[in-house]
Amino acid sequence: MAINVVCLECGQGNRIPEAKLDAGAKCATCGAGLIKGEPTEVSLDLLVKAARIDGIPLIVDFWAAWCQPCRMMAPEFATAAKALKGKARFAKLDTEAFPQANKRYDIRGIPLLIAFQGGHEIKRQSGVISASKIVEWASGFSLA
Ligand code: ZN
Repeated sequence: MAINVVCLECGQGNRIPEAKLDAGAKCATCGAGLIKGEPTEVSLDLLVKAARIDGIPLIVDFWAAWCQPCRMMAPEFATAAKALKGKARFAKLDTEAFPQANKRYDIRGIPLLIAFQGGHEIKRQSGVISASKIVEWASGFSLA
């Protein structure tokens, strides 16, 4: 089985064998790691593409620099990204840099986590939560 994933660095679509999820799969175009145990900052265009194409759950932290709770949650999000490496991918979107995201994703407050897979929003969570709660929250949809 091959899975489609968009490179979170350059936006290139890649197909990787499911068996290679843990083996350091790299983007065919830019060479960036496709499965990283850390969040990647993305643009709105890239997010829209990845949310449409990714076969692996993509968990996005919608944040802004002025948002104190967002800054509190950032290390928790990073810890969860490490814990779920190979099971879900993690991205961050700066809602101040990309204000159009607010309308597109019906964002009423941040921090907000939204998980996407196979072209759909599969789950969302508002407010600050700990790394262990993020992992628990993702357990219903992350890959085994
Ligand atoms: Zn790339």
